[in-house]
Amino acid sequence: MKRTTGTDRSITSKWRPATRAVRAGTTRSEHGETSEAMFLTSGYTYDSAAEVAARFAGEATGMQYSRFQNPTVAMLEERIAAMEGAEACKVQASGMAAMTSSLLCMLSAGDHVVAGRAAFGSCRWILANVLNRFGITHTIVDGRDNAAWEAAIQPNTRAFFFETPANPTLDIVDLAFVCGLAKSRGIVSIVDNAFATSALQRPLEYGADVVTYSATKLMDGQGRVLAGAICGSAEWINNTLSPFQRNTGPVLSPFNAWVVLKGLETLDLRAHKQSENALEVGKFVESRVSRVLHPGLASFSQHDLAMRQMDAAGTIFSFVVDGGREAAFKVLDALELVDISNNIGDSKSLACHPASTTHHNMGAEGRAEMCVDEGMIRLNVGLEDPADVIEDLDQAFTRAGL
Ligand SMILES: *Cc1c(COP(=O)(O)O)cnc(C)c1O
Repeated sequence: MKRTTGTDRSITSKWRPATRAVRAGTTRSEHGETSEAMFLTSGYTYDSAAEVAARFAGEATGMQYSRFQNPTVAMLEERIAAMEGAEACKVQASGMAAMTSSLLCMLSAGDHVVAGRAAFGSCRWILANVLNRFGITHTIVDGRDNAAWEAAIQPNTRAFFFETPANPTLDIVDLAFVCGLAKSRGIVSIVDNAFATSALQRPLEYGADVVTYSATKLMDGQGRVLAGAICGSAEWINNTLSPFQRNTGPVLSPFNAWVVLKGLETLDLRAHKQSENALEVGKFVESRVSRVLHPGLASFSQHDLAMRQMDAAGTIFSFVVDGGREAAFKVLDALELVDISNNIGDSKSLACHPASTTHHNMGAEGRAEMCVDEGMIRLNVGLEDPADVIEDLDQAFTRAGL
């Protein structure tokens, strides 16, 4: 029985990405099950008092308590690490648990963070409303502007925090430049890679220190569970993140870990197929709407950079309809196949109005700064036949008078 090949890095590191997504991290119980087992247990038992003492002292390996480790969760962590090309990974209860933990585990009062302007609304919120309460300051920069990153560095800057492509304007951050700049100044770069996933973009190859995920999105891929992940060096994960996570407890349930494990088996296929579909749909939307923000289209201002650092442009793009919120709502309400939903990464095509949903809590001023237009619609393109998605958009545009 090949029980442990999935956790042997000397073997899994030779596997190609699609193989890692199916097999890395898998361990098998004495039953030799093909599918990863779901260990719904909070605690563990031991053969002797000395054995548990050795585990708590760090002198013996093995499970202790599911806030620390769980066999199903450990399989997911090893699989994500292998796919990312990271030394280590810890998973969390949601993407926001991952983002919050990645910052709070390493920052102290008096530290400073430079963050990309375009970001998931809650990522901006924790900078402004959590970190600042503990004396951690931040500067927001236009993530597309390399010089702005450099100019924002202060003597106490400890971290760069950004996503690329960014939500919802699809701003691209130059990974090689910005992560290289961070490295040269002793700053930790934290990249939220939720839109692309390791199937399309691997920030560690460009010098990122920490890669964070909402695994809720393309990694689960079927809109089922919330999950988050943080990848990095073994030293950083074990000594900086793990003590914080073990004691504060934002851990992922084994059930949700199992669902994401199953999602990862098809990630490579879905990420590429949905990217193809999104490009086809994007080309159609461009024929009907004047402003389309899609990294895969030649009209996108950062198309070349996006294609340099990504294998494909991803499942998500945005466009701006004339007529503001009213016109955007008309289009959304006229959709018959595509669902109105603020989720992304799903195999179902989903459309949302960022200004009134994901970026509502930023206020009008914050949205203006981030270029989240009132007429903006963000589209996640799923696995349906793109011709059906195009037909639906076509009739919705027509009914909305566009
Ligand atoms: C969804 C999302 C998050 C938050 O993740 P949750 O799983 O919803 O907590 C963070 N960053 C990005 C880019 C996201 O798309």
